[in-house]
Amino acid sequence: MPELPDVEVFRRYADATALHKTIREVDVRIPRILEGSSRRSFTRALRGEAFESSRRHGKYLCLNLTNGRWLVMHFGMTGSLQYFMHSDDEPEYTYALFTFANDYSLAYLNPRKLGRLAIYDSVEALIADKDLGPDPLTDGFAFEEFNDVLKGRRGMLKSSLMNQSILAGIGNVYSDEILFQLGWHPRSKVDQLDEEDLHAFYRTLRHVLREAVERQADPAQFPDTWLIPHRSPGASCPRCKGKVQKVRVGGRSGYFCPACQKKLGSK
Ligand SMILES: [Zn+2]
Repeated sequence: MPELPDVEVFRRYADATALHKTIREVDVRIPRILEGSSRRSFTRALRGEAFESSRRHGKYLCLNLTNGRWLVMHFGMTGSLQYFMHSDDEPEYTYALFTFANDYSLAYLNPRKLGRLAIYDSVEALIADKDLGPDPLTDGFAFEEFNDVLKGRRGMLKSSLMNQSILAGIGNVYSDEILFQLGWHPRSKVDQLDEEDLHAFYRTLRHVLREAVERQADPAQFPDTWLIPHRSPGASCPRCKGKVQKVRVGGRSGYFCPACQKKLGSK
């Protein structure tokens, strides 16, 4: 599922391909991917406009239109973007197509149809509507803010990391990586973290996300010392060579190494 690093890669891709071109045509193939607007009002909001700039908040890609409004994309489990010229090159699972005055098109792909497109007046309105916490990769995201959002929480580390109202952008895959690098058991509790732990948490989380973006969010380019390339049943832990195991936390199954990741308080 596209998480913060994947969506950041999509944002850069959109920046490199789709900005400053008049949108000539909008073709929504499956109306149910639209949230809060009909096919007609969605098309009307976009046609004749151009994407001027982009922002990302958590797993949402936001493209600012010349009329000041925002096209907001969420990629669900499997979404992505593709920019192409000839209709022969149109990728499979294109559920929305934005065609520009230069005859190129930006396709929004969504094989499992779980993504959503919406129009918002501002990114702040999106954040309020979806009750999103801060984006941990934002330049201004300081340790104090991280400390504040975790204060008083008692949940398990993995579910807290994946809770979009605490921090926006981290899902099942990257929460596993962050906790692996910290050597913490996914079911440890947030309220067991001391000051030193919180600093390590903040640093590791930002490091993992930043590094993943630099490597195009492509697991094949990740260091072999990371857990992500080894997130599969029966795989060996890159650190101790023991078996990586599945763990069920808050209704999701993640991966961890029982030898390398200890419950906090048991150290
Ligand atoms: Zn291990």
